[in-house]
Amino acid sequence: MYQRIVFLTALTRNTDFNKVKFFKYNEGEENKSRKIVEQYFERKVFNYIEQDKKAGRDVEGNEYVDVDFLMKLINTQCQNSNELLTIDFEDGRVSSNITCQRVNCGEARVKDNCIGYCKNCNCALSDKIKSIKRQKGIIR
Ligand SMILES: [Zn+2]
Repeated sequence: MYQRIVFLTALTRNTDFNKVKFFKYNEGEENKSRKIVEQYFERKVFNYIEQDKKAGRDVEGNEYVDVDFLMKLINTQCQNSNELLTIDFEDGRVSSNITCQRVNCGEARVKDNCIGYCKNCNCALSDKIKSIKRQKGIIR
């Protein structure tokens, strides 16, 4: 089973999650789906914090990206390729191409420092950064 969350109001680009409808879901299912998406994003934020901590970036303070921030990226466009940022359900599992790209790579993923990027661009960028670092001998 494969489903993609779409906004009924996509044409007006309204990102209010309350107006999001899930195809073929009844109201109970819709709440359940929302929960699943929230949990998915909670894990994502947790991983971001771990990554930032590991890299020695400051994760204190309350402006760190949160579930709400990620929710608002749904059905917006990647700031690099204009790819639509989406959430997909397949057999009850969530997948998404939504990532937070840090504008200033020296800073943690605080809200002011993050823009929505699709997975492809995010990976391509980090590969590019890796290859530059490799050239400069910073990493091997
Ligand atoms: Zn992109």
